[in-house]
Amino acid sequence: MQNNYYPFENYPLPYAFNALEPFIDEKTMELHHNRHLQTYIDNLNIALKNNVRLQKLSLEQLLSIAIKLPLNISRNAGGVYNHRFYFEGLTPNTQFLTEGELAKKINETFGSYENFVKQFKDAALSVFGSGYAWLVASWQRKLTIITTKNQENPITAGLIPIINIDVWEHAYYLKHYNKRGDYIDDWFGVANWVFAENNFLTF
Ligand code: MN
Repeated sequence: MQNNYYPFENYPLPYAFNALEPFIDEKTMELHHNRHLQTYIDNLNIALKNNVRLQKLSLEQLLSIAIKLPLNISRNAGGVYNHRFYFEGLTPNTQFLTEGELAKKINETFGSYENFVKQFKDAALSVFGSGYAWLVASWQRKLTIITTKNQENPITAGLIPIINIDVWEHAYYLKHYNKRGDYIDDWFGVANWVFAENNFLTF
């Protein structure tokens, strides 16, 4: 469904802006998708406009060589990927994992789902300024929790994103004000574990 090549377009979300209430509010979702993501898409298209060779690369391919790219391309490519990934990783019908490959691996890696939640929250709280916390897998299928700053992305480090949380203030300030911890708790009320499981199974 997502177009992964230039020119990039901002497709509608697979759920209504108010669908994640009361965890994430309608206005935040609308601004986040229609303005913040849209701006990264517009700026990425502008940055790639005169670069025919880079236009042939997918978003993931751009990110895999991000350290070699001009900042206006790498930052905006990250902004597009990270936001799309974040929005796809949310759902009005959250289901906590109790079985399946990813649940098994989470239990094995973190001891329990509850321990994972705690460690993921701690990581998301630890991001200084703007960035993301991610559950990622290595090619050896080892799970870890990492953080990235600004619009940097795990693909650049050779890691496979499983699920992420955007902790830039625009992701929560209208509802949660400065209380990032409350937003992270609420994020667990709308996290899309089917999406995460698919990411884990399909690389
Ligand atoms: Mn954002």
